[in-house]
Amino acid sequence: MTSQLQRFQEGLPVLADPPQYDLLIVGCGLYGATFARLAADAGLRPLVIDQRPHIGGNCYTEERENIHVHAYGAHIFHTSNRHVWEFVNRFAEFNNYINSPKALSGGRLYSLPFNMNTFHELWQVRTPAEARATIESQRFRGDPANLEEQALSLVGRDIYETLIHHYTRKQWGKDPSELPAFIIKRLPLRFTYDNNYFNDRWQGIPIGGYTLMFQKMLEGIEVRLGIDYFSNRSALDPLARCVVFTGCIDAFFDHEEGHLEYRSLAFEHEVIATDNHQGNAVINYCDPEPAFTRTIEHKHFDPVGSRSDVTVVTKEYPQPCRDGAIPYYPVNSEANQAIHRRYRERAESLPHVIFGGRLSEYRYMDMHVVMEAAMNRARSVLPALATP
Ligand SMILES: Cc1cc2nc3c(=O)[nH]c(=O)nc-3n(C[C@H](O)[C@H](O)[C@H](O)COP(=O)(O)OP(=O)(O)OC[C@H]3O[C@@H](n4cnc5c(N)ncnc54)[C@H](O)[C@@H]3O)c2cc1C
Repeated sequence: MTSQLQRFQEGLPVLADPPQYDLLIVGCGLYGATFARLAADAGLRPLVIDQRPHIGGNCYTEERENIHVHAYGAHIFHTSNRHVWEFVNRFAEFNNYINSPKALSGGRLYSLPFNMNTFHELWQVRTPAEARATIESQRFRGDPANLEEQALSLVGRDIYETLIHHYTRKQWGKDPSELPAFIIKRLPLRFTYDNNYFNDRWQGIPIGGYTLMFQKMLEGIEVRLGIDYFSNRSALDPLARCVVFTGCIDAFFDHEEGHLEYRSLAFEHEVIATDNHQGNAVINYCDPEPAFTRTIEHKHFDPVGSRSDVTVVTKEYPQPCRDGAIPYYPVNSEANQAIHRRYRERAESLPHVIFGGRLSEYRYMDMHVVMEAAMNRARSVLPALATP
């Protein structure tokens, strides 16, 4: 993969007296980069560090075969928040990509999200009334005791068996009958012929890739890569007046209240000698085999910017979060939520540390949610920091 990141430095800066930075931002993902941009716009001096060798956190894209590869899984930007949309458009022009994944089950392809196209593919029904009646006749009635019964009560048996059961088992490594019901609160059903996965007003992929967008966002800001905060804490903390921490909150407190559980992912990237392998950016795999849950064909995210005679396809394998694997999905159990509440209480007693982002909040957050959270927090704390 080619590096687009020549200008970012490695190694620690030298300590000066008084501290030469206003903020030390740990993590150069979307939360850290948004916060850094707003701090710099307010006349403050942030230093951003990341343990990874690149900027962008999980949104990072790298160029391969002239294609912008989403290195940590498919990332589609979508929002209905005008402030977020205007902010992100300062750094990127977005294309008109609309996410319309397909799901493969029993050798047949189905449309996602669950909508009239899916219902027609499943039952050959044509009207919303027919689809509603079919789902209604298959629903589980009663108080759902587990995720399987919850899903059956929301969408009925056919959709569950065809598109949810095995996909969920692969994703969480457990059968849905062994998982708590509250993991799935809603399974949206759309009674129109509309394969647009998201309901938001704005949607797209940054032309040129997310990494280019982050580079523009970080213009004029000092970024140091390949630096782990915990291994360098005593050298890093004195460099700035306050810390913005976007890593794992349990690691920040040495796991003293317990370990927060995550599910991880492994990505297998492959160059295939054809210009169009699967005809769509995202395909979900809903059978017990193969073990991967999704394949991503990256060039379809950006057909104009990713012209190539070959294609790059990524298989996404859910896996346990062990041995330094990247934590992706919080395991949303009551025990984990209780541990996280204890960390949050401890975090509130540290006024010079701002905790933010998906790993500190211990919840799945879409990009626009992370960005909005960083914008709100920056708006509340930066004015005081900017006052001498
Ligand atoms: C598979 C997948 C697909 C997704 N698809 C979408 C999508 O289509 N649309 C959407 O809106 N959202 C999507 N998301 C969510 C999106 O990835 C997040 O909203 C976003 O990346 C969160 O940004 P962040 O800054 O909170 O975290 P991150 O991007 O994880 O950034 C945190 C950074 O902190 C660094 N860090 C952590 N600990 C330390 C340390 N000790 N020292 C130094 N650095 C450290 C990490 O290396 C990382 O770079 C997806 C997520 C996943 C997992």
